[in-house]
Amino acid sequence: MLDFLRRSVGATKKVAKSKPQAGKTASDNAATDQAQPERHKASGHKAARPKPGASLLPAVQRLSRDQHNISRKDISPNALKVLYRLNDAGFDAYLVGGCIRDLLLGLKPKDFDVVTNAEPEQVKQVFRNCRLIGRRFRLAHVVFGREVIEVATFRGHHSGSDDDEDTTPKAKTASSSEQGQILRDNVYGTIEEDAERRDFTINALYYSVSDFSVYDFANGLQAIAERKIELIGDPQTRYREDPVRILRAIRFATKLNMQIAPATAAPITELAVLLKNIPAPRLFDELVKLLLAGKAFDNFMLMRDTRVLKQLLPQLDKLLKQEPEGKAFLLATKALQDTDARVDADKPVTPAFIFAALLWYPVERRSQALVIDGLSEMDAMNIAMTEVLDDVQRTIAIPKRFTLSMRDIWALQSRLTKRAGRRAFKLLEQPKFRGAFDFLQLRAQAEGGELTELALWWERFQFADEAGRLQLINQLGKDGIDKGPRRRRNYKRKRTAE
Ligand code: ATP
Ligand code: MG
Repeated sequence: MLDFLRRSVGATKKVAKSKPQAGKTASDNAATDQAQPERHKASGHKAARPKPGASLLPAVQRLSRDQHNISRKDISPNALKVLYRLNDAGFDAYLVGGCIRDLLLGLKPKDFDVVTNAEPEQVKQVFRNCRLIGRRFRLAHVVFGREVIEVATFRGHHSGSDDDEDTTPKAKTASSSEQGQILRDNVYGTIEEDAERRDFTINALYYSVSDFSVYDFANGLQAIAERKIELIGDPQTRYREDPVRILRAIRFATKLNMQIAPATAAPITELAVLLKNIPAPRLFDELVKLLLAGKAFDNFMLMRDTRVLKQLLPQLDKLLKQEPEGKAFLLATKALQDTDARVDADKPVTPAFIFAALLWYPVERRSQALVIDGLSEMDAMNIAMTEVLDDVQRTIAIPKRFTLSMRDIWALQSRLTKRAGRRAFKLLEQPKFRGAFDFLQLRAQAEGGELTELALWWERFQFADEAGRLQLINQLGKDGIDKGPRRRRNYKRKRTAE
């Protein structure tokens, strides 16, 4: 599948090694050797203004239609419409980033992002179905029913040491924190500048419908062929500009089954602490991408090993440090592996269930401490849930609809042990029963022992008829605990005491 990539990467190396032939342009060379991608300075695009501080990028490579596998039938018809319409209105427009990377890898892109030299207001004039959004990045959303095509304007450099005439307006539209984090980024530029501002080399890929070519600005094709996640530019600087790139490096490595290049991996552990500067709603979104896209377990392990987890979920990380293979680890592992299997089978998954599993033991531990302090079991559980959730919300803004579900799942765990009389029947009618039962099964797999018996009892109860259910309840002791195993345990104890 990747043959064309290997071929073109091989060809690129050849081009890079051989001296340019006098009197011949790069496109002349490409015309004489069809297998070679063209290396040129994005001719036909707005020329890059010379900047103080040379470009971080190598010369752009162009792969013409016969040198890549991207066909228009693999592209969202709405994204194509946006490209054609912008071109017709006289603007440059490209598909960019993940969608091109994924198409080259033979994967189905999650979304199609467009980039153009039209400014957001100009994009709005071209499309009636368009709304402008964002403060940090001002973007146009072109809406086609349920599909939204995001259209961004080429992003430029920040003013910094720039002394050209744009300095004043740039100073107003871009801003960064003392740690080098970019807070606002509405500086428009050329396609080359835009490519330089992208995160990884595999994401600085552009596709145009005006010539059906792929433009590779950062040797991304070579990185794809070498299965390498590599930041563009100096990794320290790029992580400081936007620490979320740490999470993105991890996510792409597992999603694409690639390695993070050594220089890109090296600063992650030290700089993970910068994630605390990221707004909590953005961290929630990024965490959902890490945990609900089929690679949750691999991402979790990488986050644990790089100390990213310590920043995001310190409550869980602390338990994992105390007992690396303990029940908190086992429950997380089970929950995440099950989630991955469900995603793989196209079954629905919810962040509520995953976060409930990741935070169960911090809640349980806190609740037990409060019971020792003299609180009732129910009060202790309520306070523990509130405390742990308040604590988490400071870092990750889990929306209320999910925290409410988490509370339901947690609160029902203790009710699942109390089954005497009509209680089990009532619980079964609860709309939240299914989630709570699934959660109990996970806990049983992590802990075994009495929880396994409890989960088995509930499984039998659900599938039994009325008489069978009554019989199951009759086997229970007054407090809802199964009589059978308890008698056996007492008997054993007596025998060993003899
Ligand atoms: P996927 O959609 O599969 O999550 P993606 O690479 O398309 O992966 P998006 O979040 O859709 O990721 O972003 C689209 C493109 O925007 C990326 O490919 C990258 O070029 C650029 N980009 C996104 N986030 C950043 C960032 N934090 N820093 C720099 N560039 C970014
Ligand atoms: Mg994308």
